[in-house]
Amino acid sequence: MKKVMILGAGYAGLRALRELQKKTKGFEVTIVDRNSYHFESTDLHEVAAGTQPWGKITYEISDVVNPSITTFIQDEVIEIDAKNQEVHLKDSGVHQYDYLVVSLGFRSETFGIPGAEEFALEMIDIDSARKVHENILAAMDKYKETQDRKYLNIAVCGAGFTGIELVGSLVENKKEFANRAGVKKSDVTIYCVEAAPSILPMFNDELRKYCLDNLAKWDVELMTGKAIKGLKQDTVVYADGEVEKELAAGTIIWTTGVSGSEIIGKSGFEERRGRVMVKPNLTDPTYDNVYLIGDVSAVMDPETNRPYPTTAQIALKMGAHAGRNILSQIAGQPTTDFKFESLGSVASIGNTHAFGLVGKINVKGYPASFVKKMIMNKSLLDTGGVKEVMAKGRFDLYR
Ligand code: NAD
Repeated sequence: MKKVMILGAGYAGLRALRELQKKTKGFEVTIVDRNSYHFESTDLHEVAAGTQPWGKITYEISDVVNPSITTFIQDEVIEIDAKNQEVHLKDSGVHQYDYLVVSLGFRSETFGIPGAEEFALEMIDIDSARKVHENILAAMDKYKETQDRKYLNIAVCGAGFTGIELVGSLVENKKEFANRAGVKKSDVTIYCVEAAPSILPMFNDELRKYCLDNLAKWDVELMTGKAIKGLKQDTVVYADGEVEKELAAGTIIWTTGVSGSEIIGKSGFEERRGRVMVKPNLTDPTYDNVYLIGDVSAVMDPETNRPYPTTAQIALKMGAHAGRNILSQIAGQPTTDFKFESLGSVASIGNTHAFGLVGKINVKGYPASFVKKMIMNKSLLDTGGVKEVMAKGRFDLYR
């Protein structure tokens, strides 16, 4: 009986599991995750802003496990020993595998900026996203006690997809924050500090303008061209030309980018920022039985000559492909190469505004937010099946 192990139950890992579970003979699967639940990482900003409860973006991993071939272990991966085909888990010790799928996801990247780890809140999982919301509410309470204006300021560091989507949801919940602090909605200020001269360079001027116009309309203080140099308690230190300036904020959230799981480097894989440049069939360059998929994987985009950005869309496609390739290997068949054609990407700014590309077509406004929710439902379908879409899908399609 061949042993397949999947590390991590995010988009990539669960999609690989579903593909493997289409066959039920000749192998057994063990899937490991530190949590009992899968979470929709593309939706963490809504939990952080408090516009969705965390239960809405999670479901139990056991819901998608077929117990006749799959065992779920809730444990922490400590290290992978690819040479000896072993995985070391914190509580349940060493596990042997024939085929391994590494889908351990992302962590926050601080680029060594001083104070970032200590003084900013990250938004990488359910616990950290919930802490962001708790921190905002606590800051509003502190304003009430102290009347110190900084507690009404929320600073988002980095205006990538994650930062912009977070800002959109924070805007949506400003009323809750203001009520808590006992002030007017307009007294709560959301800042977004970005090093680059503009935002989201992958989109054309029309889409960027849609986003910028809305942020301006909602009084978001978008500070582009301001590289963050360091953080101190309740303070973002940034460069304004040659001068260093400070922004005081009771809540500081770090969204300047991500790297792959630290387990990749720790386990001796050849990596850069936690990502391994995999072979075209998604296996490690040295180990033919180790698949690296999702945020721990880098696959070259022949059009740009750079690795594809890490998105849920590519993670799901990689998961399905790795699953199929393992089934082929078990059957003694050759593997196939991974091909990716992006279906586009859509960023939400709040619940009813969004913008982006569907294929090569621009979408913006309410229709785009509808498309965004359908994308979210499709990813739920891909990992959790119809049951999870019915229970956790986004059908809040009101204007
Ligand atoms: P990112 O790397 O895309 O964006 C980080 C931003 O932070 C960049 O604009 C960068 O210029 C800025 N930054 C970095 N260092 C800085 C500094 N010192 N001072 C100020 N600004 C600084 O990271 P992300 O937004 O976390 O996204 C990670 C990946 O996930 C990306 O590939 C993204 O496309 C993907 N993603 C996609 C979606 C979607 O499709 N809707 C949503 C979220 C994330």
